[in-house]
Amino acid sequence: GPVLGIESSCDETAAAVLAPDGTILAEAVFSQTEDHARFGGVVPELAARAHLSHLPGLVAGVMERAGVVPHGLGGVAATSGPGLIGGLIVGASFGKGLALANALPFVAVNHLEAHALTPRLPGLLPGGAAFPYLLLLLSGGHCQCVAVEGLGRYRRLGTTLDDAVGEAFDKAAKLLGLPWPGGPHLERLAAGGDAARVPLPRPLLGRAGCDFSFSGLKTAVAQVVARGTADPADIAAAFQASVAAVVADRARHALAMAPGATALVVSGGVAANGGVRAALAAVAARAGLPMVAPPIRLCTDNAVMVAWAGIERLRASLTDPWDHAPRPRWPLDEMAPPAAAPAP
Ligand code: ATP
Ligand code: MG
Ligand code: FE
Repeated sequence: GPVLGIESSCDETAAAVLAPDGTILAEAVFSQTEDHARFGGVVPELAARAHLSHLPGLVAGVMERAGVVPHGLGGVAATSGPGLIGGLIVGASFGKGLALANALPFVAVNHLEAHALTPRLPGLLPGGAAFPYLLLLLSGGHCQCVAVEGLGRYRRLGTTLDDAVGEAFDKAAKLLGLPWPGGPHLERLAAGGDAARVPLPRPLLGRAGCDFSFSGLKTAVAQVVARGTADPADIAAAFQASVAAVVADRARHALAMAPGATALVVSGGVAANGGVRAALAAVAARAGLPMVAPPIRLCTDNAVMVAWAGIERLRASLTDPWDHAPRPRWPLDEMAPPAAAPAP
């Protein structure tokens, strides 16, 4: 039967029902952005309460639109980490309860694995994203290069030494007086600016490996803003150009560290940024690889990806017990590789 996916790791409450072949039957996302905007960031306790009040209605809605009753499901998949523990407990407990009451298999989904497997959703790419591929996860909470070698087999090649790239966009936007979350506002402001007018650093550019660092860039933006002489649009353009150049350079190094990769996959909210996308497309083209960016609604937090990760795991008979505890920290390289699991 169809698989229900639940996402509640940060500030998006989401539910989706997918057919066993991955066809999306129904999906819904409730974004809490407005609840948190006046605090300038996600407030964990508020987020957990909002998940609690919105999740039951969202699940009922997608089940109805998918035309499926709980005991007709083939399984329930709920994000169980990494993320804010309050929200994770709400979503995972709801999912387990539903699964237990209807004798369904339960899958505790790693949110990062769900992002990593998204490009394999049928119909997204002609032929589907075949393993191995290189994933660039560029979001508000994560910034990493991952070699996706198979289900459960992820090799983290590089990560940020300080801020995630979306976080850097949000901090720079805040310095420019833009509302939170600032990434999209900063991109709009940058469109009318000239990057060449404001020299900004490009941290780690040309350095070996594919780690990231954005705190120095943020400090430089703060200093330029404080001087008060530069046009905000020029600052925004220069910031975006720096990030795009750095991300492209890191991606180039990561591709060299992931021989055999069949595609460069870009995911996370920052994949929406035109400057970053263009720079990465150029890197992929030079490497003779397709650049794949799922549609934005599947790049930002959603439950379609969670249900899909559930389907991939159910196909491999990888289910989780009722006492699986949500994990605020759950690095991708700790996912048990199914192929290497000891024989029972
Ligand atoms: P995570 O998925 O890591 O748990 P998250 O929920 O913050 O964290 P996403 O929802 O994937 O991440 O993305 C949100 C981030 O993407 C924010 O930091 C936002 O500013 C940034 N972002 C969204 N659109 C753009 C854009 N056009 N340009 C730059 N940044 C953007
Ligand atoms: Mg979010
Ligand atoms: Fe995410």
